[in-house]
Amino acid sequence: MSIEGKVIVITGASSGIGRATALLLAERGASLILGARRSDRLAALCEAIVAKGGKASYLVTDVKRRNDLNRLVEHAVERFGKLDVLVNNAGIAPISLLDDLRVDDWEDMIDVNVKGVLYGIAAALPVFRRQGFGHFVNTLSTAGIQIVPTMAVYAGSKNAVRAISEGLRQEAGPLLRVTTISPGYVDTELPSSMTDEALRARGEASMKAMAIPAAAIAEAIAFAVAQPANVDVGEIVVRPTAQG
Ligand code: NDP
Repeated sequence: MSIEGKVIVITGASSGIGRATALLLAERGASLILGARRSDRLAALCEAIVAKGGKASYLVTDVKRRNDLNRLVEHAVERFGKLDVLVNNAGIAPISLLDDLRVDDWEDMIDVNVKGVLYGIAAALPVFRRQGFGHFVNTLSTAGIQIVPTMAVYAGSKNAVRAISEGLRQEAGPLLRVTTISPGYVDTELPSSMTDEALRARGEASMKAMAIPAAAIAEAIAFAVAQPANVDVGEIVVRPTAQG
């Protein structure tokens, strides 16, 4: 069981779960290629990883743009010679009541949380097929398990990726692995993507009250990645013990 030597692309690596996962996997010997929109954050993270003796590189990536995902995956293969894992982690949560008709936010969630993952799959799947190995890790949410008011579209986006992940697993055959991870409340910058101020304040309060650190999710992802090639960890749920 090892992470050592694996080449791993992570989207949404500039903060929160993606950042924590990058730090942990680098510490355990993976070579990281990090994607997100904020280049200053990515540059600082790569510097921190390299300063500790790790290997990391980044490319400014907007997952709304299919070609950005293609470039990110190509960069991994050019720089490190292969791709072992794609962590489709970038996500936003501008939640609201359906009655509020925040249709732009609905579209944003579909574009980032669903189409962004599909673009990642489209970029990496041919590479994985060519290599004869590969592992997709897709970040879902407990919001997709227990669906509550204001979360309909966000939960829908995550459950779309749940279905896509299972379909991918069915089609992938014996050589590719597919893992979904569903975090509960995690202490990250996610509330900053909320456009409804009252809901953002509520989200921040819930996080203060019970959120677990992003490192807890990173540990779960590392567990799945570290398994031998014939062991596919399908689905992991990690939530605060206090979460209802
Ligand atoms: P953060 O807001 O800290 O991280 C989100 C990441 O996604 C950032 O790195 C952000 O980078 C990136 N991102 C957002 N939009 C885009 C885009 N268009 N293109 C590329 N990258 C983008 O929140 P989390 O770490 O919490 O979120 C990570 C994942 O975890 C998400 O999928 C989220 O839905 C999921 N999740 C989080 C939970 C929580 O409680 N925190 C609970 C359940 C699931 P940048 O802005 O630089 O582009």
